[in-house]
Amino acid sequence: MPAPFSSFTDPNLAPIARKVMVGEGLSYDDGVALYASRDLHGIGRLANAVREKLHGNQAFYNRNRHINYTNVCALSCKFCSFYRKRGEEGAYEMPVEQVVATAMKAAEAGATEVHVVGGLHPWLTFDYYLQMLSGIRQACPQLHIKAFTAIEIVHFTRIAKLSVREVLSALKEAGLGSMPGGGAEIFDDRVHDEVFRGKVRADKWFDVHRTAHSLGIFTNATMLYGHVERPEERITHLIKLRELQAESLAGGRAFFNCMIPLSFIPENSELGHLPGPTGLTDLKTLAISRLMLDNVAHIKAFWIMQGIGLSQVALSWGVDDLDGTVVWYDITKRQGGGTTHQELHVNDIRRLIREAGREPVERDTIYRPIVRNTPSLVAAGI
Ligand code: SF4
Repeated sequence: MPAPFSSFTDPNLAPIARKVMVGEGLSYDDGVALYASRDLHGIGRLANAVREKLHGNQAFYNRNRHINYTNVCALSCKFCSFYRKRGEEGAYEMPVEQVVATAMKAAEAGATEVHVVGGLHPWLTFDYYLQMLSGIRQACPQLHIKAFTAIEIVHFTRIAKLSVREVLSALKEAGLGSMPGGGAEIFDDRVHDEVFRGKVRADKWFDVHRTAHSLGIFTNATMLYGHVERPEERITHLIKLRELQAESLAGGRAFFNCMIPLSFIPENSELGHLPGPTGLTDLKTLAISRLMLDNVAHIKAFWIMQGIGLSQVALSWGVDDLDGTVVWYDITKRQGGGTTHQELHVNDIRRLIREAGREPVERDTIYRPIVRNTPSLVAAGI
């Protein structure tokens, strides 16, 4: 067998490698065996082989700006260090004008996308969200608006008394381009009841994404790992995502653009006593996501959560995308010295990618390459 598919220190990887080599989907047992294996390099080689088969040497990034329009939330998920109750110190809500002004600044700085998410604000009306989208659309028609997790969409159905389809159609009409994948956490009732009771269950998350795909709205998928879930539950989660992707691809309208495994950060959450995932769990989870999700094109390392160094290493562990420039991110604060200003300059992203032996490719939200006239980057060799 070719090198990536042989020479394992763990014999359990050999039958999995044979399946990967011929493009056969991995089973639940295969996924569990991968997590149980101590042959980290063997798993990495397999994930890297899939990644290079799909994308060669390319590694993607985009120029984006996150806008967290409010941190006021009706829920209190235990893993969340972002939410505040109204009136509590640090609670905020941005007027529509401020969101639009922020998007305009992002567009002027060269961003191609804004990523807009927030808490489940108990008093903002559905009109606020429609005005936000149409305001950005009018002010910056060239900017792609990726907005609202499935949990926010369900919240809108309640405040607007509309169905998921009606809410998504209205948002699309107002300017919604695609949706992020947050709110998935772990698709398991035990984990749900232990750490995010009150949030919608898996069936609702899937209902929102299935409906979005049927309306031609592309979405992302996520998994929050490294808290109270077990490896087996991560595998079940990945298989459920793979099943919806198969359904959506057969439907032929829209589907998951990418999978983003999110590394749990305990600090300042109610689960602060937990140790959080180790670097090996991060690498394994990124690689196993690549191997299990054979019908999702892209695996993204989100440098804010996995860290810049590990994200760079992960470019040889199944990852082909390093997300973007971000600028302000209020939800977790691992990078940026504990502030919400978390910016990675485009030159730094390109340098990180080049140093990892990959070819940096700026992409738009749906992974079309963006060509810019940037002689300064070329002159500087980045
Ligand atoms: S994770 Fe989302 S829904 Fe849960 S408390 Fe935080 S902001 Fe609210």
